[in-house]
Amino acid sequence: MNEDHSFWKEHNVQVLIRMRPLSTMERANQGHGRCLKQESPQTLVWLGHPETRFTFDHVASETISQEKLFRVAGLPMVENCLSGYNSCVFAYGQTGSGKTYTMMGEISEAEGSLGQDCGVTARIFEYLFSRIKMEEEGRREEKLRFSCKCSFLEIYNEQITDLLEPSSTNLQIREDLGKGVYVENLVELNGAANRKIAATHMNSESSRSHSVFTCTIESIWEGDSLTHSRFARLNLVDLAGSERQKSSGAEGDRLKEAANINKSLSTLGLVIMSLVDLAHGKHRHVPYRDSRLTFLLQDSLGGNSKTMIIANVSPSLCSTNETLSTLKFAQRAK
Ligand code: ADP
Ligand code: MG
Repeated sequence: MNEDHSFWKEHNVQVLIRMRPLSTMERANQGHGRCLKQESPQTLVWLGHPETRFTFDHVASETISQEKLFRVAGLPMVENCLSGYNSCVFAYGQTGSGKTYTMMGEISEAEGSLGQDCGVTARIFEYLFSRIKMEEEGRREEKLRFSCKCSFLEIYNEQITDLLEPSSTNLQIREDLGKGVYVENLVELNGAANRKIAATHMNSESSRSHSVFTCTIESIWEGDSLTHSRFARLNLVDLAGSERQKSSGAEGDRLKEAANINKSLSTLGLVIMSLVDLAHGKHRHVPYRDSRLTFLLQDSLGGNSKTMIIANVSPSLCSTNETLSTLKFAQRAK
């Protein structure tokens, strides 16, 4: 895995595939039967009919540690934000493929240090705060200081709920010339609240909703005669399960819900594809407004923003079709 972060100079969208280990249930059902073989640090072969080879920016094997994954997929996003660019990390994949393990992981109670199963989010904050301390100490004469605010929301059935204040439902997205796109009445806490945020997430019903954790990092410094400030947003998104939502037999609300999940994931795919085309000089309309998720993130997708898509897959024969569909989604983002 490439830890030399110069890859960002070429593309603002990076795609990483993370294969998780076989689960006990998969071993029981299919033994060690696999639908995937890794060929190189960037290529994977899907072992169905016909065998298909895929190339991505990064392929993380099933033995990759949470720490190493953070260094490849999380650390550069923090650096982007400290340089003033908005950034997004998405975890995509079928339910059970490892999205929440990747984003949140298991938070151990041990005080002072992060356990080895701890996911990207807490590692990002630990690193962010250590970098902020370094920057503030290194630029004392400019009186550089940072302020971090976090929010955490869920988009379920195209409705926004504040996960830090769950009684606030059906929140609205607004646009403002100064603030950009924002969610009205959303609670913002200071950065140290991220433990509470992690705990909240563990309880949320995540297979049919998207959760969006946003940290707004403001840096303020004294110039010759003026005080300057700059904002960057870091968005960490645990997407709804990408498995085809069954609409057969569903009626009313369930049918609408299934349609909304399929629509918001396909809109995300279209937005990212359009941005990749734009970056290659092709003129494209970017359909941000076709889903709440992409509308909300529109200031953090495209332009100088950086996007990391972590596509989570199971290597088991049990999920060969879902794995193929995730690889195809990830491929289209290139
Ligand atoms: P999702 O959020 O995509 O539905 P989870 O993150 O909840 O999936 O993962 C499903 C199960 O697999 C959990 O028990 C999780 O701990 C385990 N798991 C996922 N990825 C890994 C991994 N890379 N290493 C070890 N266990 C994993
Ligand atoms: Mg999950």
